[in-house]
Formats: sequence, C-alpha cells, structure tokens
Amino acid sequence: TKSYVGVDNAPKQYVSRQRRRPYAFNVMVVGESGLGKTTFINTLFHSVLKEQKSRPLESTKTVEINAKSYDLTESGVHLRLSVIDTPGFGDRMNRYEDLNPIIEYIDTQNQNYLQQEQNRNPRPYFKDSRVHLLLYFISPTGKRIKDLDIFSLSKLSGKVNIIPVIAKSDTLTADEKIVFKNAIMKRLEKEDIKIYPYNYCDDRASISHLETHIPFAVVGCNTLVEVNGKRIRGRAHRWGIIDVENEQHSDFIHLRELIMSVTKSRNLNDLVISTNDIHYNSFRTTYLQQNDT
Ligand code: GDP
Repeated sequence: TKSYVGVDNAPKQYVSRQRRRPYAFNVMVVGESGLGKTTFINTLFHSVLKEQKSRPLESTKTVEINAKSYDLTESGVHLRLSVIDTPGFGDRMNRYEDLNPIIEYIDTQNQNYLQQEQNRNPRPYFKDSRVHLLLYFISPTGKRIKDLDIFSLSKLSGKVNIIPVIAKSDTLTADEKIVFKNAIMKRLEKEDIKIYPYNYCDDRASISHLETHIPFAVVGCNTLVEVNGKRIRGRAHRWGIIDVENEQHSDFIHLRELIMSVTKSRNLNDLVISTNDIHYNSFRTTYLQQNDT
C-alpha cells in the first residue's frame, strides 16, 4: 500500500540521509481567529497523526506562535510534522501589525538554517525548522477579499509556499463560491501575489486539473456523522450534511492531493524542495548582501 503522506516518494538519496534524523515538514496556518484553522488541520491530518508534544514557541501580547509536533514513521522513514498556529491574528485594533511576529518567525527559521550552513555542520544533521507550507485562510465573505487578507498575502508572497484556502466554505452557496474564487484569483494576480504551485510550476499541464479549484474552498470538521449506515466526517446543517471528503461539497480532497499525493509527482517533498531552492535561496542572497561587512 502507498504511504498516505507521500514520504515514499522522496528521492532515495534524500530518504537515506533522512533516516538518521526525522524528515521535517513544517506547516504554518494563518488567518483570522474563528475561521476553523485548528479544526481543519485536525481534519487534514487526523488519520495519520497522534500528537507528540506541544510547545509554545514565541509569545507576544498579541499574536502567539505555537508549534505542535507529530511523529510518524512510514517505510522506515521518520516524519516529524510541525503545525505552527498563530492564534490571535487579526484580533486587535491595528490588525496589520499582527503580521510582524509571523514574518519574524519565518525569517528566524531561515536564519537558523543559514547558521548551520555557515557552521559547516554536516547537512544530514541539520535541523530544518523552515516553514515549508503556509496555509492562508481567507474569510468567506463571498464578495470582496478583505484588505487584511490582501495585505498579509502581499507581505508573505515570495517568502514561503502559500496555498490560499477559503475558510468555512459551507457558509457559501455553490454559485457564491465560483464568483468568490474568480474574484480572489483576479485580485491575487493584480497584486502580484505568488501562490503555490501556480506561480512555481514550470509544467502547468501537470496542475491543470487542480487549477480550477484554487483557492481551495474547504470545510473542517472533527465529528463523524452517520449517512446511509456509513460514518463520515461531516457537518450537519438544516438542509443536510456536508461531507468534507465529497468533492461536490468541498475541495478538501484536491487540496489533500496537492499536498500529500504520492500518485502525482507533488507531495510534501516538493514543498520542501521549493522552500529550499526558491524561498530559502532568495532569503540567503538578500541576507548575505545586507550583512556583508
Ligand atoms: P480557529 O480560531 O481558526 O482555529 O478556529 P476553530 O478551528 O477553533 O473553529 C472556530 C469555530 O468554527 C468552531 O466552533 C468550529 O466548530 C467552527 N468551524 C470550524 N470549521 C468550520 C467549517 O468549515 N464550517 C463551519 N460552518 N464551522 C466551522
């Protein structure tokens, strides 16, 4: 059987190097409070992961930055998944400043990696805490993307792999979702906001089946409901049940395919590679230029 998270697909060399250390995958979730970020992460990773440890990393009076790590072993490869949550984002009067600790966190992890390179540590022993994926939760207004969301996405663009998702999409009708998605894509293009894999893919044909779903309209749910004798992960509404894994109801399975599929060429490893080759590289170039004494 194929591995669920896609560790199987990592190039052999990478895997053998990573046998010594867990293969690190770090995902950050950003978006206003109450948009279902915590719920969604649990939905996305529920079947494979058991919480190992939780440690508050950085705490400011405003936005907290928390990382939770989960350990997983598949085909002899150890995966350590860290989920970096940012509770409190967008809660204050001056919400725009809430982005500062998030950007600082991303930069600090890049600096830590650079430090290890400069110390000439053997690469297999590097600790990789760089953010490999940032899931950005857009408020489901249905009409216009909020200024805070555009501001944040612009600042984060080019620093990390961003996958934008429409939060709590069960609050929109099917037609509203289409209109909203088009409006978001137009705006992202206008503001030159770079998203994954759209702006980082040489081979657009390989993602064409996914392009129509970007930004992914998601629904999070941690409870199981019974439908026709089967227990499914879903949200019960007055008009019926939203099945998170039904593609008529949400884009969950497409997003999961993009992040974790092993049958397609994209998976966690692709996100790690583009973090290293694109984002970290450009961080390093700028950083070294600025700190050249
Ligand atoms: P966070 O602050 O972004 O981490 O949000 P939470 O995951 O704590 O969710 C906030 C509330 O929204 C909870 O009551 C959830 O049950 C509810 N919720 C989470 N996801 C969804 C969703 O996709 N649709 C709807 N309608 N409610 C949701």
